[in-house]
Amino acid sequence: MEIRRDPITQSWVVCGQRERLGEAGEQCPLDPGVVENTKAILTWPAEGVWQGRVIPHPEALYRVENDPGRVAEGIYDKMGPLGAHEVVIETREHDKKFSQLSDDEIERVLWVWGLRIADLKKDARFKYVSVFKNQGALAGEEWDHAHSEVTATIFVPRRIKYELASAHEWYKDRERCVFCDIVRQEEKQGKRIVDVQGDYYALCPYASRVPFEVWVMHRRHNHLFEQARPGANRKHLAALLGRVLRRLEKVAPTFHLVVHTSPNTRNKKGELSGYWKTLAEDYHWHIEIMPIVEKPSKSYSIKEVYFNALLPEQAAEQLRATDPNP
Ligand SMILES: [Zn+2]
Ligand SMILES: [Zn+2]
Ligand SMILES: [Zn+2]
Repeated sequence: MEIRRDPITQSWVVCGQRERLGEAGEQCPLDPGVVENTKAILTWPAEGVWQGRVIPHPEALYRVENDPGRVAEGIYDKMGPLGAHEVVIETREHDKKFSQLSDDEIERVLWVWGLRIADLKKDARFKYVSVFKNQGALAGEEWDHAHSEVTATIFVPRRIKYELASAHEWYKDRERCVFCDIVRQEEKQGKRIVDVQGDYYALCPYASRVPFEVWVMHRRHNHLFEQARPGANRKHLAALLGRVLRRLEKVAPTFHLVVHTSPNTRNKKGELSGYWKTLAEDYHWHIEIMPIVEKPSKSYSIKEVYFNALLPEQAAEQLRATDPNP
């Protein structure tokens, strides 16, 4: 496998067949009794019967042992798939969805996401750590056992690059964080807010790309998901996320969820190398949830412009009216 860069869009594309380690059996590879055969990166609780577990992805897209070997092919750039790819098993129970976990259990998964991001960022070769969750076959879910994935890459994904650049532009003009400005205006207007708990907000973004797109944000500024602000109550975030997903599942049980946090600024030559000084002030972590509710429009399949038939104000209203209880 190799990673190629499109010189025009700067997208990185992982090309080639995934390595298959074993035969896909009948048994779910994330179930107790099976998963214990794989060495865990992390289990919780530390002692006794595990409730959650992080393992290397059995068919990893990125591997730690790979040489980055960035080579030029004429005008093009490519490299080996150096990185890390992990699976967070969110519960030992096969039939339980993430949204059916208790607030405490969800909080623990959020804590594990943060731990893995912080740990992988210690490796200065990794420029970005992504945490994401695909639920439902249409979303590209690999197993129906509740799990999320963590990848560390030696490049920053394109969307994050765009977000960083836009947030930086906004900050340069106004000396304010664009995400903080969004939360403040949404808070005032209320019409796109889905739910609130403590300082955490769930809202349908103004230019939602798909029906029922939801962002979950903290109203207090912080660029690092993995480093909660002093006094930040992640139990509130867990409770809010659980309610939002239970609502969403009534209209869109299939979705992508992704945590957007600051890139790895660690560098052998010193912090922030390659980035501007105000990165910590102008970027702001958030969680994006993109439901898959309709087939892509036939007449308009150019992905860079989205067509969304449902106004975010109506989506938020409908979600607010949906009972978050199972
Ligand atoms: Zn299972
Ligand atoms: Zn902010
Ligand atoms: Zn984002």
